[in-house]
Amino acid sequence: MNNPLLEPFDQAPFSQIKNEDFKPAFLQAIEDAKKEIDAIVDNPDSPTFENTLEALDFSGQQLDRISSIFFNLNSAETNEEIQKIAQEVSPLLSEFSNDITLNEGLFKRIKAVYEQRDSLNLTTEQQTLLEKKYKNFSRNGANLTEENKKRLREIDTELAKLKLTFGENVLAETNKYEMLLTDEKDVEGLPDGTKEAAAQLAESKGKEGWLITLDYPSYIPFMKYAKNRELRKELSMAFGSKGFHNDELDNQENVKRIVKLRHERAKLLGYKTHAHFVLEERMAETPEKVLDFLNELLEKSKPAAELEFAELEAYAKELDNIDRLEKWDSAYYSEKLKQKLFNLDDEKLKPYFKLENVINGVFRVAEKLFGLTFKEVDHVDKYHKEVKTFEVYENGDFISLFYADFHPRPGKRGGAWMTSYKPQYVLNGKNNRPHISNVCNFTKPTSSKPSLLTFNEVTTLFHEFGHALHGMLANTTYPSLSGTSVYWDFVELPSQVMENWCYEKEALELFAHHYETGELIPIELVEKIKESATFQEGMATVRQLSFGLLDMAWHGDDPSNITDVKAFEDQAFESTDLFPKTPETCLSTSFSHIFQGGYSSGYYSYKWAEVLDADAFAYFKENGIFSRTVADRFKEYVLSKGGTENPMELYKKFRGAEPSIDALLERAGLVTK
Ligand SMILES: [Zn+2]
Repeated sequence: MNNPLLEPFDQAPFSQIKNEDFKPAFLQAIEDAKKEIDAIVDNPDSPTFENTLEALDFSGQQLDRISSIFFNLNSAETNEEIQKIAQEVSPLLSEFSNDITLNEGLFKRIKAVYEQRDSLNLTTEQQTLLEKKYKNFSRNGANLTEENKKRLREIDTELAKLKLTFGENVLAETNKYEMLLTDEKDVEGLPDGTKEAAAQLAESKGKEGWLITLDYPSYIPFMKYAKNRELRKELSMAFGSKGFHNDELDNQENVKRIVKLRHERAKLLGYKTHAHFVLEERMAETPEKVLDFLNELLEKSKPAAELEFAELEAYAKELDNIDRLEKWDSAYYSEKLKQKLFNLDDEKLKPYFKLENVINGVFRVAEKLFGLTFKEVDHVDKYHKEVKTFEVYENGDFISLFYADFHPRPGKRGGAWMTSYKPQYVLNGKNNRPHISNVCNFTKPTSSKPSLLTFNEVTTLFHEFGHALHGMLANTTYPSLSGTSVYWDFVELPSQVMENWCYEKEALELFAHHYETGELIPIELVEKIKESATFQEGMATVRQLSFGLLDMAWHGDDPSNITDVKAFEDQAFESTDLFPKTPETCLSTSFSHIFQGGYSSGYYSYKWAEVLDADAFAYFKENGIFSRTVADRFKEYVLSKGGTENPMELYKKFRGAEPSIDALLERAGLVTK
């Protein structure tokens, strides 16, 4: 009756685990973790950093390892049984973590240490840990009066419900809409695959013709390729008016209620606005800084966006005699113009990117930069035979295990991600090294052809590998500050910066060889890839900035007087408008990122991360893209440090200055020379 999950283990014991082991393991590990917390709270000694903060950070380790194995499997190799267990254990886990944040005895001890923090001689990492743990309680109301605590719980409950309703409405609106086309002329321009899928969808619903919906795989290609302008308009209007029909699925009242409750919550906790509350734990720190950032970028990119818009409008005029370029023309003519200018075909590039070559390439890049070597090994227990396992060495010393799982399977969710099975930390003088994993969904090999990646897949591989490096090179004491446990607007720096090497001749020479002839990728192709990567970058930038500005408008001020959602939104978009306004549409009522997901006051971070990676890579370029000096600094101050210090401080130590937007403007072709 041994449960392998409850025995001590180093490598995840995949082959020994049976599905029925999970639930009892979770229950037991939660009990054990609770006992560890109780022991901290009941300690008769007065609170110290060691007996409280350190003890807390090293508590629940078995539970964390079981959770990481289980939830990683639920993403990479799931089945109905695992999904059912996930439904059962998820509430138990959130209850457990809520119990910790509401544990008054525990907070009392942490607060006692926090109040003496200046006289404790703590290291920077220890100060960060103390601050983080204290804030975890105070930001959840631990310092409030009983009455205000009660109000906070009410707000949280109502917000949770509203977010759910918001999301359900958007989903219902998406599912409700169908556009059935019965005339072949109406699907003119669509690629065969899209047409086929639309016909199949119609057939599956007992209809004849082609069925177009608001799901991305249907919506996006239609907007890009459908020749019929009226139909593009119809679909675009339907897409843009989700939650904005004054019916039972309307989200306008939900939006207003959400921002008002968020504001009230922030005020209760002593913050000026919801944005101030959120940004306290971000690299950007304040709404003022975010707004300065967005507006500076807008000022620099707007002229380029206007030029691109004029060029696109002229092209639409030339092609189809369109007088006024509307939102529903944008994707269609952009695609045509892009084809005309670059004629870049994935099929032409793929032979240069055989998966094995690209993996060797990214390993070679990591070797040249950070002195890492990768040794494929077969003694590591794994959850599927397709998973490859490597031991990673840094200048000869073992630093990490690396699992790589590249191809789609039933039971694996879509997309690509990095995760870990074991965190890095130092305990009793021993540096415990991490177990890191990359999971992707790349084109599979066939009997006649190896796995050949699209260029997009190549950059995805480099991106996820950058996250993996952040995990592998982690070198901190406390597990909760290790590796990718950093502020949200900092976490994409290591991943995005790695993508830059994919565009460099010096790096491509290491791996981009034709899988049959061995010929190196022609330089004209590389140049074309680079150029096409910044095609219409001005318009794309302004669009991203408009979302960031709308998010900040909703959350960076007192929302009490907002009555008209659409009018409020129009005002927020004022400085970023390129296309004629459409009174029938509203973005806010389906802006799930900020009203349902976790991106409120955080939408800016997409652009922020780009600024960081462009600025960091510019430093490499100044010194050679394989400069060991720069790479050493990047390892020392970014990759190894996790969340042990404020990211702006870490960045300045790496770069010698705060990030500037110039490198991004240059890379995106937005500087007027
Ligand atoms: Zn990422």
